[in-house]
Amino acid sequence: MVTSRKIQMRGVTRLKIIDILNSKPVTLSFEVFPPKSDITYESVKEATLQIAKLSPDFMSVTYGAGGATDKYTADIAGEIQKNNVPALAHLTCIGMNRERIEVSLTKLKGLGIENVLALRGDLPEGATMESKDFSYASQLVQEIKDFGDFCVGAACYPEGHTESESQSEDIIHLKEKVDMGVDFLTTQMFFDNNTLYKFLYKIREKGITVPVLAGIMPVTNGKQIKRICKLSGTSLPTKFRMIVEKFGDDPAAMTQAGITYACEQIIDLIANGIRGVHVYSMNKPEVAQTIKNNLSEII
Ligand code: FAD
Repeated sequence: MVTSRKIQMRGVTRLKIIDILNSKPVTLSFEVFPPKSDITYESVKEATLQIAKLSPDFMSVTYGAGGATDKYTADIAGEIQKNNVPALAHLTCIGMNRERIEVSLTKLKGLGIENVLALRGDLPEGATMESKDFSYASQLVQEIKDFGDFCVGAACYPEGHTESESQSEDIIHLKEKVDMGVDFLTTQMFFDNNTLYKFLYKIREKGITVPVLAGIMPVTNGKQIKRICKLSGTSLPTKFRMIVEKFGDDPAAMTQAGITYACEQIIDLIANGIRGVHVYSMNKPEVAQTIKNNLSEII
C-alpha cells in the first residue's frame, strides 16, 4: 500500500512519484508556477495550498530557466510537502553550471523533496550563458541520478519538439534521455487525444516503457493559448479552435468551455487506458476544484 510507504519526516510527507504511479490505477496531479519575486509569493502560496487541499496524487512546481525562480520553486514545493502532498520540483539546466545544480539539489533534499522534473529549458530572451556544462536534459538526468536517491521525471512532446527536424529524431533523443535513468515522462499539452495515442505507440515501439503522464491544459484565456501553442508547437484541432474563436473574448464562457473540453479529454484518456493525468492548473484553485468535482466518480 502506498500509504504505508509514506514516510513522515519532521512533519513532511516523503513519497516517490514512481511508487504512486505503480500502485494506483489512475492518478490526477496538478501543476503550479512560482512567483518571480517576494511581492507575489504569498498569493502563489495561498493558491498552491488551496489546490493541495484537493489531495491530488502529487503537485509539480515549474522553474524559471536560468534560475530566476530557484528559491521560490523550492520553497513552494516545500509548502506542498508540508501539506501532505508529494511535490515534484522542476529544474532546468540551460546556462547553469554543475555547482549551481548541486546547490539546488541539496536544497531540495533538505526540504524532503524526492522528485525532480529534469529539463533543459529555454534561455530567456537577452540572457547570457553562464556556463556550457549542460546542452540537453539527458545530461541533467544523469547529474541528478549521480547525486542520488531522487525520482526523476522528464518532458516529452507528442507532436515533436519544435527544434527537432522530425518526430523520429526527437524520439531517438527521448530514448537516450530515458536511458539515463528517467522514471516517468510528462507530455507537453495536446488537444487531440489521437496525437497522444499515436505518440505512445511510436515510443513503445522504440523501447521507451516508462509511465507517461498526459499533460492537460484547461484553457481559460483565448489569447494566451494561441500564443502558447505557437511557441510550443502545439496544434489546435478545428473542434477546439472553434471554441476558442467563439468564447475566447469572454473569460467566464472560455473558462467554462475550456474546463469542459479538458474533462472530456481526460475521460476519453482514462477510457483508453491512460493511467496518469497531469493538469496544468496555472495557479487557479477554482479550475482544479471543478476538474476534480467533474471527475469524482471517474478518478
Ligand atoms: P531536451 O530533452 O534536452 O530536448 C531539447 C531538444 O534537443 C529536442 O529537440 C531534442 O530532440 C533535442 N536533443 C536532445 N538530446 C540531443 C542530442 N544529444 N543531440 C541533438 N539533439 C538533442 N521550461 C522551463 O523553463 N521551466 C519548466 O518548469 C518547464 N516545465 C516543463 C514541463 C513539461 C512537462 C514540458 C513538456 C516542458 C516544460 N518546459 C519548462 C519547457 C522545456 O524546457 C522546453 O520545451 C525546452 O525547449 C526543452 O526542454 P527538454 O527538457 O524537453 O529538452
